[in-house]
Amino acid sequence: MSAVKAGILTDKRVTQKIYSGIEKGILKKVDALVIHQTGALTAQHTFNSYAKGGHGAHFLIDKAGNIFQTAHLDKKTYHVGKVRSKCYELKVCSKAQLQTVTKILFNKSKSYPARVSELHSSEKAKSYPDRYPINEDSLGIEIVGNYNVKAKTYEAVSAIQNSSLQWLVAELANHFSITTADVYRHPEISYKMASEASSASW
Ligand SMILES: [Zn+2]
Repeated sequence: MSAVKAGILTDKRVTQKIYSGIEKGILKKVDALVIHQTGALTAQHTFNSYAKGGHGAHFLIDKAGNIFQTAHLDKKTYHVGKVRSKCYELKVCSKAQLQTVTKILFNKSKSYPARVSELHSSEKAKSYPDRYPINEDSLGIEIVGNYNVKAKTYEAVSAIQNSSLQWLVAELANHFSITTADVYRHPEISYKMASEASSASW
């Protein structure tokens, strides 16, 4: 059984490789986990990017299934981006909510990126789980997997990677009292390529 102390997940299966440049202030609570794929061939590619700061996630699972912790669990990282409307995607909006969402999403007088930003701001005013998780209340897990630009698909998550993911998700779910309903694939909640982490299982 792993332990969490001072933002570190302590277990022999986890190697600490913290990049403080991707840590963006205090993460006050963890309500959800978001599963990503890196879009790069090797873990080193992502580590090089993390060393420069900017976007990042809390964990990385490499091709061999090794688990690295790359940010403290009590620090925010930028891994989610702008979120979709949960009630809209799940078709459970109230009449008023649906009006708000469609007014933003189909506003032809604004550019698509502007609409996505406006929708994010509108969603952010809701609290989880009424909206999808955001950087302020979730941990990100990256799985190393390349992106094929021509085919617009991510490579499949391997069995050994999924086995590490299952263990990691179970440990984090236990520490933060979250359920499998609180674990999301990135494209499910944000406007990303649908195949990202599509073959991940936990
Ligand atoms: Zn992602």
